[in-house]
Amino acid sequence: MALRSLFRPTTLRHLSAMRFASTTPRVKLLINGEFRDSETSNWIPVHNPATNEVIAEVPAATQAEMQEASDAASAAFATWKDTSILTRQACMFKLQHLLRANQSRIAAAITKEQGKTLADAEGDVLRGIQVIEHACSIPTLMMGETVPGVAKDLDTYSYRIPLGVTGGICPFNFPAMIPLWMMLSLACGNTMVMKPSERVPTATMMIAELAMEAGFPKGVFNVIHGAHDAVNFVCDDPAIRAISFVGSDQAGKHIWDRGTSNGKRVQSNMGAKNHGVILPDANKTATLNALVGAAFGAAGQRCMALSTVVLVGEAQSWAEDLVGLAKQLTVNAGDVAGTDIGPMISPQAKQRAFDLVESGVQQGARLLLDGRDVQVEGYPNGNWMGPTILTDVTTDMDCYQQEIFGPVLVCLHADTIDEAIKLVNANRWGNGTAIFTNSGAAARKYTMEIESGQVGVNVPIPVPLPFFSFTGNKGSFLGDCNFYGKAGVNFYTQLKTVTSLWRDADADVLKAATAMPTMK
Ligand code: NAD
Repeated sequence: MALRSLFRPTTLRHLSAMRFASTTPRVKLLINGEFRDSETSNWIPVHNPATNEVIAEVPAATQAEMQEASDAASAAFATWKDTSILTRQACMFKLQHLLRANQSRIAAAITKEQGKTLADAEGDVLRGIQVIEHACSIPTLMMGETVPGVAKDLDTYSYRIPLGVTGGICPFNFPAMIPLWMMLSLACGNTMVMKPSERVPTATMMIAELAMEAGFPKGVFNVIHGAHDAVNFVCDDPAIRAISFVGSDQAGKHIWDRGTSNGKRVQSNMGAKNHGVILPDANKTATLNALVGAAFGAAGQRCMALSTVVLVGEAQSWAEDLVGLAKQLTVNAGDVAGTDIGPMISPQAKQRAFDLVESGVQQGARLLLDGRDVQVEGYPNGNWMGPTILTDVTTDMDCYQQEIFGPVLVCLHADTIDEAIKLVNANRWGNGTAIFTNSGAAARKYTMEIESGQVGVNVPIPVPLPFFSFTGNKGSFLGDCNFYGKAGVNFYTQLKTVTSLWRDADADVLKAATAMPTMK
């Protein structure tokens, strides 16, 4: 199916208040293998963040449509769970092939809706493809365990079996990677109801189109759209057994509370404030370049952005050196060649970042570089913010306490590595951190004592590849099983354990046993 057919022009029937039919494309739903027009009267505008023009409208799906999606997923589960694991694996292989072939096309759509540069958008798709590639090992990943001879003629073995229908709720900042993280669920034999971010629905729809082409049977993968009502549907619908969520603290805690109180499994990846700790023996040029890339790349809108730096001892003077490097970055539309930093997602997100920078200045921080006055030629209405650096920041300031989620680097000072570790561990989040040093002993000490769940040693954004898992912790994660890798397979499966006795004759059993079996 051509991408064009995933949209349809607005008609008067759906926008009765409008005098003329709009040509704004409308995003479809995917229910039971069919890309469908929503019957809703509630359409949410999707903007190009470089221009703030409305480029599409996404439906707030009706309750009936969401129910149909869930019912289709339930019906499909009855056969998908019994479809051979090799057939499921073959679908993943085909999807992987199609994603590779369409990587640039999906990346271009991401740049248009989300704003990030084309190169960064290609990386967004690739990091998702890598999870699909890992899921192609599903026959091995789903192996259970066996212990023969737990007692005479008695064997015990466990199967990993799928759960049923699973739900996915996604954020705006990785429009392809995060839905693809969640599609590991399908390889495990589950079916899905996916709700992409209403701000960036198109990448998911392109992936959905490819999933249909890859041969996933109808109803196995469904896409609904909307905001809070769609989220609450996923939390409440009794057929949905598990919810994968990635996004902000506010939504993540709500989904965790509501989903778990309905008896569901929930994995909830939330906000972050990732610290880089810089020791004075670090390779200065490499470290400063790593910090600038990790703080300002994707306009700081990554949950693993290195948004906070702790300069230790003599490295405290390095903050000034960051300014020159940051000034070399080009702010422009993501599809313009040479762009380093694209627009932020919305005027509200930009204003919030501006306000947090201002609060830092009011509370005593020093503004080394102010990106709030950036203008981009040809794009007067974009959500622009250039690299911004605040130093002399203290832990009581709002710019430290809040996740800014913009191109803002806040610099703090510590006299010793112990003081730096104490500072980082006192932060409520624990997504990621990085230490920069040439001392193996210092790096090891940091790695062992730091509480964050993902640690880089001279690596600014230590996101693990899919044969590991994404292991954020503390305030950045609620749940027991992390995303992807073995933990992801555990999340999407449950154990069934069989104890089995086979013997030729039972002549020696003379009397029924009523005591607890001791299995000798
Ligand atoms: P968001 O929470 O605003 O939106 C995420 C999803 O939740 C969307 O689908 C949205 O429709 C829904 N939602 C939003 N507010 C809700 C509410 N109050 N109740 C119910 N549902 C709601 O997040 P975002 O702005 O799209 O993404 C940015 C956030 O995501 C940042 O905090 C970032 O750190 C976090 N994030 C975390 C990770 C991670 O792995 N830890 C990865 C990416 C992004």
